[in-house]
Amino acid sequence: MRHITNNEHWDCIVAGSGPAGLGAAVACARLGAKVMILEAAGQPGGTICAVPFMPVNRLRIHGKLRSEVHEAFVQSLLSFGKAACYPGPEDSVNGDGFCPQPEYAELAIYQLLEQEGIELKLFSPVVDAVTENGAIREIIVREKQGMIHYRAKLFIDATGDGDLAAAAGCGFWEGKSEETVDPSIAMNADFMLRTQDIQEKSIHMPITLGFSLIGIEEGPFFTWMGKNTSSFKKILGKEDEKGRYIAAWYAFNHGTAPGVMGVNNGAWIHQKLTSSGLNSSDLTDARRNGVRVAADLAAILRENGIPGCECCALDRVGGILGVRDTRRIEGEYTLTFENTQESAEFKDTVARKYGAIDANQLFMGKMDSGFAYPYRSLLPVAVDNLLVTGRCASATFLGHSAGKSMGNMMELGCAAGTAAGLCLKESVLPRNLDIDKLRNTLKEQFQVKL
Ligand SMILES: Cc1cc2nc3c(=O)[nH]c(=O)nc-3n(C[C@H](O)[C@H](O)[C@H](O)COP(=O)(O)OP(=O)(O)OC[C@H]3O[C@@H](n4cnc5c(N)ncnc54)[C@H](O)[C@@H]3O)c2cc1C
Repeated sequence: MRHITNNEHWDCIVAGSGPAGLGAAVACARLGAKVMILEAAGQPGGTICAVPFMPVNRLRIHGKLRSEVHEAFVQSLLSFGKAACYPGPEDSVNGDGFCPQPEYAELAIYQLLEQEGIELKLFSPVVDAVTENGAIREIIVREKQGMIHYRAKLFIDATGDGDLAAAAGCGFWEGKSEETVDPSIAMNADFMLRTQDIQEKSIHMPITLGFSLIGIEEGPFFTWMGKNTSSFKKILGKEDEKGRYIAAWYAFNHGTAPGVMGVNNGAWIHQKLTSSGLNSSDLTDARRNGVRVAADLAAILRENGIPGCECCALDRVGGILGVRDTRRIEGEYTLTFENTQESAEFKDTVARKYGAIDANQLFMGKMDSGFAYPYRSLLPVAVDNLLVTGRCASATFLGHSAGKSMGNMMELGCAAGTAAGLCLKESVLPRNLDIDKLRNTLKEQFQVKL
């Protein structure tokens, strides 16, 4: 394949445009850096755009501003009006979020990046990195023209999968860690099918294809669902026996247009318990079976006479698959489940995570007021001019699952981008950055509540 060097000068290249990548890019650009985002998919936003109307949680805190960076995204989304989004559910798991229609979320992201002067390249997966003396010299991106080599002073891995960090030689973990949770903090998971197998034997959280249905009368549907969880579970059990493709659980969110409903789900219950978001065969199965789950749910709701679903049909499936966990890059500190429970505080706290421990079964830890996230978890041990952020930052399986919702990931991104911006100004490496200066900039310039 042709190798081509791109001679443009970038201060910071962010790989991945999910909530963490967006937070990182905006913060870094606001500190004066020339920033480019490289995105593997043909759409920006990562999981923001993967499941129609899924609440992008924790964009605010108790109804108030979470940070200037979060608010820039929120305002961009709100500028498209009622067709674009509505406020999400207010409960201790979700809370302070917005449920966007995916194409409007996409428009909001384009608008945001344009306003902030950030270049975005879609269809640009980072596939390799050339390192020299423990630093990345250039990264290699597979584009249609060939392998394009890009250079920058600093890099941020917000790929979720840690692709850039792994290519640069960083160590990583995958799948469940040796951690035990006190069962008394587990939320009732009666609504799930085959929970035992999924919780005890799976290695990763499931890979999900989100989708939306049309032709639903919202009022009768939600009233019936609210009162008939066990009847719905029985219907699903019977349909499973008949060979229909059933998800382990479903979560419904109404759309921004009448009759439309977004469906998040726990994936096909026969998904391999070893399925990994890094394995193309598993991803293919997740997509193939996910489309079937979507089509079958429309038929199940219609044929079983669920109120409001007489005319129900499949509308569309998400543009990308929802992958909940893959690589977690080895950083200078690894956030653990214990940290979340003992409300650990750190001298280098640069973000807070709120919500539940959502490892595909919900646990309510001591997280209501947010638990601290240390800067060292964003610093990979093996590479100097790289920060990792979002779901590939350094944490155990449950350390990551605690507060993995999108507003929290955007805050980790904001911390990484702010650190990168300050490092560029002061010509220091991320691990040598003055922590007080970083924390003060987050608090004073971006209004982050540390
Ligand atoms: C199915 C599902 C349901 C969820 N439900 C909710 C919910 O209801 N509310 C909530 O707030 N959170 C929810 N979450 C959690 C939340 O979405 C994730 O934790 C969060 O999106 C992680 O943010 P991120 O930016 O680190 O990664 P991602 O959102 O995964 O974004 C990573 C981005 O990097 C890109 N990328 C990957 N590899 C490369 C590469 N090599 N080069 C360039 N780009 C690359 C991807 O295409 C993607 O755009 C859910 C997650 C999933 C998967």
